[in-house]
Amino acid sequence: MLMSGSKNNDRMKKNLLLSFFLFFLLQLAAQEKSGYILLKPDRVFDGENMQTGWVVLVKNNKIEAAGAMSFKLPADTRVIELKGMTLLPGLIEGHSHLFLHPYNETSWDDQVLKESRAERTARAVNHAKATLMAGFTTVRDLGTEGAMYDDVGLKTAIGKGVIPGPRMICATRAIVAKGTYGPRSPSPDVELPQGAEEVSGLEEISKAVRSQIGHGADLIKVYADYRYGPNGETLPTFSEAELASLVAYAASSGRKAVAHATTPEGMRRAVNAGISTIEHGDNGTEEVFRLMKEKGVALCPTLAAGDAIEQYRGWKKGTDPEPQRITNKKISFALALKAGVIICMGGDVGVYSHGDNAREMELMVEYGMKPIDVLRSSTSINADTFGYGNKFGRIKKDLFADIIAVEGDPSVDIKNIRKIKLVMKDGVVY
Ligand SMILES: [Zn+2]
Repeated sequence: MLMSGSKNNDRMKKNLLLSFFLFFLLQLAAQEKSGYILLKPDRVFDGENMQTGWVVLVKNNKIEAAGAMSFKLPADTRVIELKGMTLLPGLIEGHSHLFLHPYNETSWDDQVLKESRAERTARAVNHAKATLMAGFTTVRDLGTEGAMYDDVGLKTAIGKGVIPGPRMICATRAIVAKGTYGPRSPSPDVELPQGAEEVSGLEEISKAVRSQIGHGADLIKVYADYRYGPNGETLPTFSEAELASLVAYAASSGRKAVAHATTPEGMRRAVNAGISTIEHGDNGTEEVFRLMKEKGVALCPTLAAGDAIEQYRGWKKGTDPEPQRITNKKISFALALKAGVIICMGGDVGVYSHGDNAREMELMVEYGMKPIDVLRSSTSINADTFGYGNKFGRIKKDLFADIIAVEGDPSVDIKNIRKIKLVMKDGVVY
């Protein structure tokens, strides 16, 4: 269709104006995108040591420079003054379950059996936000507990910027030996949906590992022991050969395998099979910790889970005498430290509230670690152990700009880690 000359002119003017406006907007966006951010705190924990007199320059989503201010500041740099604050790498939660919420709200069985996947995802969205805003820019999420592969979907949504949340290292369903996990059916005639993928024999182990990888698993989690003894005792669930084949399938795909284990025998089999981290390790002995040290296997102690569960069972912390389970955990944790085992920071958060991740860090100090070592575990050690040390976990040139600021010095008082003043993930301030 043709238009009259004057109408055409008007249209052209309008188009030209619109183009100018769009161009201006794009320029603004480009400036914002190419813009530098300079962070000026009192001190910087770089993932390994506490540094004074440092500044950190961020460009887009990467750390451009960290150290003394010896470089020329680019013209369009946005400067953020952080007086009285400590800058740290974004914290890394080593053991989370974003698809669980505290057991004193709803029992684990009821979450698995009675909450719909939609409800669980809705909750997980809130959990992801709470985690990020608490300064945890990465989580290693160790099993959806019945919510199938929904962790992978959640991770995708976070990655696309649909919802705020941490980077996720996903285990998907986790693997258990047939008949050992839960929820337990009150009747042998009724099969209940399980909180993890059941397998029996090498064939099914291989199938589950490969299927989980195909569905987006970043790592494989296996339960090397569980409470399925005749009287509910915790006993090993897989042979060492079965665990070794699981590790081999995972390793040939470039993925690590991690094991839930609380008994010395379960831990020993998992360590000998080539597992990369032991989760919980509650009854670890001097001997098994020595083996872990020798093989370079890390312990993720999950102190906060036991602390929470004992309180749900009625323990009034600070008033009542210490439950045997807590005393035992303190003893085994001290043995692990004495043996020089690599200690990860991971609390099994989900058993207690998401966003309360610092609880594990406080307990690590309470149970005998120096605050600076806890900071190392929560950043560089977790990143290296999980295989992401070249991406995040330190304040270092070319790593992702995952950076937080807290008031005060958490290497003096670990409680300061809760005084979050800035959360930056991938160069974006939340
Ligand atoms: Zn767990």
